[in-house]
Amino acid sequence: MDSKIIDGNCLSGQVKSEIIDSVKRLKMETGRSPGLSVVLVGDDPASAIYVRNKQRGADEVGILGKTILMSHSSTENEVIRVVNELNSDSTCDGILVQLPLPDHIDEGRVTLSIDPLKDVDGLHPFNAGLLAAGKPRFVPATPGGIVQMLLRTGNDPSGKHVVILGRSNIVGRPISNLLSMKGQGGDATVTVCHSRTKNIEELCRSAEILIAAIGIPEYVTSNMVSDGVVAVDVGINRVGAPNRKRGYRLVGDIDFLGVSQKASAITPVPGGVGPMTIAMLLSNTLLAAQLH
Ligand code: NAD
Repeated sequence: MDSKIIDGNCLSGQVKSEIIDSVKRLKMETGRSPGLSVVLVGDDPASAIYVRNKQRGADEVGILGKTILMSHSSTENEVIRVVNELNSDSTCDGILVQLPLPDHIDEGRVTLSIDPLKDVDGLHPFNAGLLAAGKPRFVPATPGGIVQMLLRTGNDPSGKHVVILGRSNIVGRPISNLLSMKGQGGDATVTVCHSRTKNIEELCRSAEILIAAIGIPEYVTSNMVSDGVVAVDVGINRVGAPNRKRGYRLVGDIDFLGVSQKASAITPVPGGVGPMTIAMLLSNTLLAAQLH
């Protein structure tokens, strides 16, 4: 593979093999394996793929994965009841409720019902607060994975200007907190851009590291980046491809072909941030088991 391509499959393999060793050690010490429960409500096809990949990842590293499928018509109280059962299940160390939830369910209330010590997605306000205070415990998996990708490829963000496109609670905001934190994997100067940002192209050109997480196919084009940029593409967008069997192809938020001409390093889609996200979820589950 081209040396400038940051290979998420390879890096996630490294992280997973470290987890395998730690899971074995934990099992020797405590006699039990970490448990991860994933709750999937409804039949969104993309969510079903993500959940399947999480279950597969758990199997690979020796984490006991369990997927709980609930119908689209489940009520908010029914979902919270399942979460409460998992909260008090001693074999379950980590709980993840796959988002998005159907429109009639308040995601905030469901997230709030998860025991913060089992919140391996890091979205509970308690864990988000710890991260904002510079004392992270469970870091949301995608941002945690991005920091690992940067560090493990020699692209330490320390002292760099990082421009982040997107301010969601799941990616943009936590990655801005992580990268601006004091210490390893942080110490960057961070600019967060969003839908109301005015001079976005100019800001992108000032980035030494550019992280795109907005959900707009190939939004970042080569004229928006400077030579040598490290480009991290979080976006996963389906665009129509009638000649493909499944009728679509996946593209990121960055125009890969154009931007890779100027970038010193770039993550592909698929095979970039996605696999690392799963590895970090498994890492959080291991941490949860170690904390219990
Ligand atoms: P979101 O819809 O919650 O947030 C999008 C953000 O982009 C918002 O903060 C909005 O202000 C900003 N935005 C929208 N239009 C913009 C514009 N024109 N210019 C600048 N900012 C703009 O999305 P999200 O959940 O953060 O996900 C973003 C993308 O990342 C999606 O494609 C999603 O599928 C993908 N994603 C991938 C992973 C992974 O593991 N690779 C994980 C989570 C999300």
